[in-house]
Order: sequence, then structure tokens, then C-alpha cells
Amino acid sequence: MSDRSCDVVIIGAGPSGLSAARTLQAAGKEVVVLEARDRVGGRTWTNHIDGQMYELGGQWISPDQTALLALVEEMGKETYPRYREGDSVYIAPDGTRTVYSGDMFPVAESTQAEMQRLIDTLDELAARIGPVAPWDDSEAAELDSISFHHWLREQCHDELACANIGMFIAGGMLTKPATTFSALQAILMAASAGSFTNLVDDHFILDRRVVGGMQSVSEQMAADLGEGVVRLDSPVRTIHWTDDAVVVDSDTVTVHASSAIIAVPPNLYSRISYVPHLPRLQQISHQHQSMGLVIKVHATYPTPFWREDGLCGTGFGADRLVQEVYDNTNHGEEQGTLVGFISDIRADEMWALDEDARKQAIVEALAEFLGPKALEPTVFYLSDFGDEEWTRGAYATSYDLGGLHRWGPVQNEPVGPMHFASSDIAAHGYQHVDGAIRIGQDTAAKILKS
Ligand SMILES: Cc1cc2nc3c(=O)[nH]c(=O)nc-3n(C[C@H](O)[C@H](O)[C@H](O)COP(=O)(O)OP(=O)(O)OC[C@H]3O[C@@H](n4cnc5c(N)ncnc54)[C@H](O)[C@@H]3O)c2cc1C
Repeated sequence: MSDRSCDVVIIGAGPSGLSAARTLQAAGKEVVVLEARDRVGGRTWTNHIDGQMYELGGQWISPDQTALLALVEEMGKETYPRYREGDSVYIAPDGTRTVYSGDMFPVAESTQAEMQRLIDTLDELAARIGPVAPWDDSEAAELDSISFHHWLREQCHDELACANIGMFIAGGMLTKPATTFSALQAILMAASAGSFTNLVDDHFILDRRVVGGMQSVSEQMAADLGEGVVRLDSPVRTIHWTDDAVVVDSDTVTVHASSAIIAVPPNLYSRISYVPHLPRLQQISHQHQSMGLVIKVHATYPTPFWREDGLCGTGFGADRLVQEVYDNTNHGEEQGTLVGFISDIRADEMWALDEDARKQAIVEALAEFLGPKALEPTVFYLSDFGDEEWTRGAYATSYDLGGLHRWGPVQNEPVGPMHFASSDIAAHGYQHVDGAIRIGQDTAAKILKS
């Protein structure tokens, strides 16, 4: 075990921690980054499965994610758009499959009108409440005390409209059942993406990817920090702190610093022991931020066969096993890759099956959208961040009912010399890589000012 000293020690080499380190180092501070895993990037992870490159975690960038786009450009990396020529597929609750074009699902006109009304209402609320301090809104407590599921049904009596709108935030973003998080939490998600309209627009929200994969952004940040700054395989176990100093014990090194940035998702704050223990407010509030659960399905075929059928590969079905599917073919590849998502209790059901039954159920769900050729992928893989000790779920954490307005106001407050930073507590870009970059930079700026 060795000892190191620096100005700021950063716990976690995901995009938040690395962007904080980059900003601090550029301002002349000496930093050490301690990472539990044997790699950097956290929830961004590019891997090869049976020779096929997959992005197992975060990958897409939308046009409003300007902090990430600027960083990608600064690094000289290229991006490429998602393939989206052709029609989409919608599967109704009764199993009817409809091929459609345009932004609105092919449902009854009255349901379309109700969906549009809900979108407009959510847009207004997102614009009024914003992503920075949603707890300050005059209706915050009220909106935080009702589940998004029940709030939608208070606004609208068309069940299908509620289910379709609910899907975009519940299965699609927070990856928890809509009964378990509040309307305020849903509005924060929409506000952080600019509007609810942006969230339901797959052309916007799933716009581009980084050539070579999103993890390469973190890898580049780590390389730029220089030799010896990032210490892998170094889970932090204990932080000893006073008003103006920390001593951080990891498995490989003890680091002495003036301040620390805890750049891990909030569900993992309690994995670290604090001496003395954290104040009451943090001890309580950290118990109310929990990870969602989603399986990211990767399936590769000799060609992107759906394109020959005039389909872009996009499919939606709020009550299907795979709620969303997209063409996820990598830049420059001839083989075609689909990505699908299985959220919350559906994910539980899948992990309860044996491997063969699970794969069969999932490829059948893909085939519902895109036809029988989807039954026989040449490579098939499921991202399983729920099984990763240093994440424990996907995509990110959110508060349980009532938690956002009660504890949101303290989530970004430092405790003594310890600051918290992760995409889970970012405002713009909340739960996304862009939010991670922003909060890393902002937290570094706060330390530089103090
Ligand atoms: C399946 C999936 C798909 C996603 N899709 C997208 C997408 O398309 N677009 C998008 O923008 N975002 C997406 N995201 C979200 C995005 O990946 C995250 O928002 C982002 O990675 C968060 O960055 P972070 O640095 O805050 O946290 P993380 O990436 O989680 O990094 C935290 C780091 O801290 C480390 N750590 C934890 N505990 C300790 C400890 N005690 N000691 C030392 N190190 C520790 C972890 O190992 C990890 O490396 C997705 C996420 C998942 C899981």
C-alpha cells in the first residue's frame, strides 16, 4: 500500500470524475482519480462479443447535449447519425402490428389527440419547472406526491394514450414502473432534455454516436491526464475527513488531499465508510435514490435485413417485452445490428429464465417488430449492469415518491471538503453522459473558486 498527496482526489473514473479531473488539471491542480474497476468509463463501455463491437452502456448523443459534443469535437473524434431511413413499426396492446411513418403512433385519432394534449401539458410543465431546481416550483410538493402513472390518469381517461406517454419516461428513461416515481421526477427528466417533445422524438434523443464508441471519450480523458493519475482496481473503502482535508483509503493506495469529488452514482455512496459519518440529512437522503433496471439487447445479423423491407428498424410497443427497438449498426459495418430495451419488471422476468429460454423470448419479441429473420442473430448479447458491483442497475438513479422535492435541494451540496458529482444529480443532461460531463466541470469550477 502506497501513500500519495494531491490537491483533489476523485473517486470514480466515469465521465463525471474524469471531466472534473480534466478541468482541475487544466487549472493547474494536481489530481488523483481512484477507480474500482479495471477500466475507465463507468456506465459507458465498448466491448467485443464474439468479435462484434457493442456499446454495452451509454452511446447516444442528442443535439442539445452541447457539453459532450464540445468535448468530442475538442478531442477530434467523429460522430455518425443513427440509420433512420424508412418506416417504423408500432405494436398495439392487442398485438396488432402497424407500419407507420411520422412522429405519432398509428392509434385512433382520439388517442392521438390525447397523446398530443399530454405532450403539450408536459412541455409546459417542463418549461416552467426546468431541470436546475424543480423542487422550487410552487407545485413541487404536490407533483412529487403522486406517481407519474396516476398523474397521467388524472389528466386523461384514454388508457392507451397514458400507457404510450408513460412508456417514454418509465420504461424508456427512468427504467422503473411509472407507479414508483413521481410526476415531478418525470418532469425533471423531460426538462433536462429541453422538453417532453424532445424525449418522444427518437430522431432527436437518439441522434448520433461516437465513432469507436462512447467509452473512448473517457479513455481519451484518462490518457490526457497522464501516466499514474488514474489508478484502476482501486475501490475506495473509507474517507477520513475534517473541514479542510481528506484521507482516502483504497485497495491500492491512500491519498491525502484538500478536497474530494465522489463521482459515483448515488446508490453507491453508502458503499464507502465515512469517518466521521456523514450528517443526518445525507445519511437519510442517500437511501432514497435507487437505480432503475433495464436490459440492453444487442442482436447482430449478416445484413440489416429490415432496411430491404423499407423499415428503419425502429419499433415501439408499450406493453411488449421489448418496448423499443432501433437500428444500431456500427459505423462502417456491413452486418446489421439491432438494439432493444427491456425494462423493470420485464427485466426481472427475463433474468428468472434460463439462458436459452431468455434468448428465445427476446428474439421472438424482436421478430414481432421486424419479421422472422430477427429470430436468428449471429451474435446476441444482453448488457447486464444490474450484475455489475460498481453500478448495480441501469441506466441511472432516481428518487422514490416524494424524494425529489424533499432531498433534491441538498443533493449537490458538499459535505465539508467532499463534493458529489454524477449524471444522476446533474440538471441539464440528467442521467446522460452530457450531464456527467457538465457536473464534472461544474464541480471542478466550484472547487477552483473556493
Ligand atoms: C445500458 C445503459 C445505456 C445508456 N445509454 C445512454 C445513452 O445512450 N446516452 C447517454 O448519454 N447516456 C446513457 N446512459 C447513461 C450514462 O452512461 C451515464 O449517465 C454516465 O455514464 C454517468 O457517468 P458518471 O461518471 O456520472 O457515472 P458512471 O459512468 O457510473 O461512473 C462512475 C464510476 O465510479 C466507479 N466507482 C463506483 N464506486 C466506486 C468506489 N467506491 N471507488 C472507486 N470507484 C468507484 C465506477 O466503477 C464507475 O467507473 C446509459 C447507461 C446504461 C447503463
